[in-house]
Amino acid sequence: MSINQSGWRPEMVAGSGNVPATSTGNTFTGNRALMLEEALIFEIGSTETTGVEVAAPVTTASKLGSLARTAPIGLPGLSEPETVRHYTRLSRQNYAIDLGLFPLGSCTMKHNPRLNEKMARLPGFADVHPLQPVDTVQGALAVINELAVWLIKLTGMHGVAMSPKAGAHGELCGILCIKAALEKRGEGHRKVVLVPESAHGTNPATAAFAGFQVEDIPATAEGRVDTAALKARLGPDVAAVMITNPNTCGLFERDLKEISDAVHEAGGYVYCDGANFNAIVGRVRPGDLGVDAMHINLHKTFSTPHGGGGPGSGPVVLSEALSPFGPLPFTERHGDGHITLVEEESVDDRHPDSFGRMVAFHGQMGMFTRALTYILSHGADGLRQVAEDAVLNANYVLRSLEDTLDAPFGGSGPCMHEALFSDANLADGFSTLDVAKGLIDEGYHPMTVYFPLVVHGAMLVEPTETESKAALDQFIGALRSVAERAKAGDTALKSAPHFAPRARLDETLAARKPVLTWKNPTPVAAAAE
Ligand SMILES: *Cc1c(COP(=O)(O)O)cnc(C)c1O
Repeated sequence: MSINQSGWRPEMVAGSGNVPATSTGNTFTGNRALMLEEALIFEIGSTETTGVEVAAPVTTASKLGSLARTAPIGLPGLSEPETVRHYTRLSRQNYAIDLGLFPLGSCTMKHNPRLNEKMARLPGFADVHPLQPVDTVQGALAVINELAVWLIKLTGMHGVAMSPKAGAHGELCGILCIKAALEKRGEGHRKVVLVPESAHGTNPATAAFAGFQVEDIPATAEGRVDTAALKARLGPDVAAVMITNPNTCGLFERDLKEISDAVHEAGGYVYCDGANFNAIVGRVRPGDLGVDAMHINLHKTFSTPHGGGGPGSGPVVLSEALSPFGPLPFTERHGDGHITLVEEESVDDRHPDSFGRMVAFHGQMGMFTRALTYILSHGADGLRQVAEDAVLNANYVLRSLEDTLDAPFGGSGPCMHEALFSDANLADGFSTLDVAKGLIDEGYHPMTVYFPLVVHGAMLVEPTETESKAALDQFIGALRSVAERAKAGDTALKSAPHFAPRARLDETLAARKPVLTWKNPTPVAAAAE
């Protein structure tokens, strides 16, 4: 393979050889205006090149024994400016919340206020070590404790486990609390967890991982849990139900209190998937609906970055019945303001029933700081407005597009924070995937597609509260235009996107058989991109 040092390879040019810029869009470099093509560092770098010059180390006897490397490591290098350009170019091939509206339903991609970042970077928070003596990290513990108090207040629950590191991790924490509570009651034989059809995939996965048998509960024609079917299934073998509220069809489960009462009556517990809490925060307290455990995705509801931008954080609020079983450690504020960390099951015998630990230390400290900053900068009334504006924006999208796209539950009343459409009225041979790919050409990350599974060809759009009416109108215009092309059978849409660096990737192959190591020489075209 011929390689030069400018990040350019002849093979990158579409067609063969050096094709001059033409009306077909081929260019000498493979670049298209400011959309820069970029090869892998293994393809453009060389083991002979480096961006740094270091003096040869003083040789000392190796203590690695048989572990010592016998061949050169072979890492490719570039000059310093080329290195900067390489990674900057790659970063430009990504779509980000700071570039445009990110309509992913069920993922809540929110604006991450810069104030949160500023606070998380304060050295007193950023530089603490989890093994520091407790007396030297009182400020950090105060952040954890204050955030815990807010989460308990906002949800009307009894306690909170702060340490889980994502929504799914929080689900596991909640289900382990339920398992411990059942075992303590001598009812470890309750092995069934009921999960509605529309549940996020993590719910059944969590229950199965914790050793329960998962049984589906159907949805009604209006997109909510079939309460009658759920009640009919309750019995002495049922450990818990896991219900998402608002649910993944974007609807509020109005029967949740009735369901909780029935589940409790039958001796089970209620797990609520609270990933969609941003639609109801400040308006509804899950504790009032009889929920026993609910995870909160700080990276959704409370705006901490996620995806490529940061780790998740999934604290779990617990009812009075489940709190004694929650994991360690937790913070405790004393009358004099001093905060201690309860780290052992046996401390004064006050927490003997904890099921153990979820993580080695305390959880995602940086995310706690960001979430608390967000909460304090909004205040209670501001958080309520966040929920109201998120719901308003989603309903604006739903009502603006329901004349163009099929909205299967459009008649079920207002939606919550996300709007659900289906592929029902697209032209023959056109699918949700074509609409999603067409949206890329319009400069948007596609909405969530083919989820929830209860709707054929689902398109789930969540606009979040921070989008202005102008931003929503532009997105609605783009989606309408693409949808109309799909309804009219515009064949160009079948090969969209046309303006992206790569067109239709084999996403299934890439997910099922990811090529994670670079092998030389792999023909570029054959690699799973
Ligand atoms: C995001 C989400 C989860 C999982 O949360 P992670 O932080 O991604 O593990 C679970 N349920 C619902 C409804 C979600 O939207």
